[in-house]
Amino acid sequence: MLRVFKTPAEVREEVRQAKRQERRVGVVPTMGALHDGHVHLIERAREECGLVIVSIFVNPTQFGPNEDYSRYPRTFEADLARCEAAGADIVFAPEAPTLYPRDPSRMTFVEVPRLSNVLEGAIRPGHFRGVTTVVCKLFAIVEPDRAYFGAKDFQQQLVIRTMARDLDLAVEVRTVETVREQDGLAMSSRNRYLDTEQRRASSILWRALTAAREAVANGERDANRVRQVLTGTIQLEGAAVLDYAEVADAETLERLDVIAPGRLAVGLLAVRFGATRLIDNLLLTEKPGCD
Ligand code: AMP
Repeated sequence: MLRVFKTPAEVREEVRQAKRQERRVGVVPTMGALHDGHVHLIERAREECGLVIVSIFVNPTQFGPNEDYSRYPRTFEADLARCEAAGADIVFAPEAPTLYPRDPSRMTFVEVPRLSNVLEGAIRPGHFRGVTTVVCKLFAIVEPDRAYFGAKDFQQQLVIRTMARDLDLAVEVRTVETVREQDGLAMSSRNRYLDTEQRRASSILWRALTAAREAVANGERDANRVRQVLTGTIQLEGAAVLDYAEVADAETLERLDVIAPGRLAVGLLAVRFGATRLIDNLLLTEKPGCD
C-alpha cells in the first residue's frame, strides 16, 4: 500500500526501519505530472531497492521569475495512482514552506559551478543551483542508497553526479534511458502545453538528433558539421525556435570541435514552440550512457 508523507520526520522514520531491516533505499525525485518516463524510473528503483520513495515537489528555487512555476501542471491524484501502479512504497510530497521555511536570501544553497553555467544553465540562470539545493536536501532527508534520474535531462544528471561526488554523498546516482512517444518525442510534463500543430512539429527534435547520430555513424568527425545537421533539421519546422544545438563532451559538457574516437559525444537541443520549451539529447557515439 502506497503511503503519502508530507514531513521529513515521517520519511526519516520509515527509512530508519528499512535500514534496520537491511533494505536498500531508492529515491526518485520528481516534480509530479507523472508520465511513463517517470514510471520507468520508479520501476527501475523497484527492481533494485527494498524501499522506494518518490518525491513530488514543484521546486520554486529552480524556476526563474518569468518561468512556469505557477502554471506548472499539478496532477497529484493521478500521480499517486501511477506511483502505486509502478510499485512505489512512499510518496514524499512536502509543501514549499516545509522545505524552505527561511527567507530565501538567508538560506544555504548548493552549487556545482562550471557544469551549471553552460547550456541550460546559461539560458536559465540559477536553475541548477535550485536543483542541486533541493536534491541535496532530499538526499539529507532520505539518505538513499540509490537515486534515479532520467537521461532526458542530461545536464541535470551530470550536475547531480558531480555534486554527490564532490560532497562525498553516500548515494549511487543512476541514470535511466529516456522514454519516448511513438514519433520519438521525449516524454515530458511540459508536452501537455503543446497544441495539436506544435505537438506534430515537436518530433523534429528527435529527427534532428537521430540525423546527427547517423552523420557521426557515417564517419563525420567535424563537430561543427554535426551541429549544422542539428540546426538545419530544426529549421525545417517553421514553428520551432532554437535556443541551442550543441555537440559536447558527454562527461564535461565542453563544446567539441572534433568527435575523436574514445571520447563520448552528446548532441543536446533546446527548442521552443510558442511559450513551451523542450529539451532533448542523444549520445552520438557508441558507449552506453545509462546504468
Ligand atoms: P521532472 O518531474 O520533469 O523533474 O523529472 C523527474 C525525473 O524524471 C528526472 O530525473 C527526469 O530526467 C526524469 N524524466 C523526465 N522525463 C523523462 C523521460 N521521458 N524518460 C526518462 N526519464 C524522464
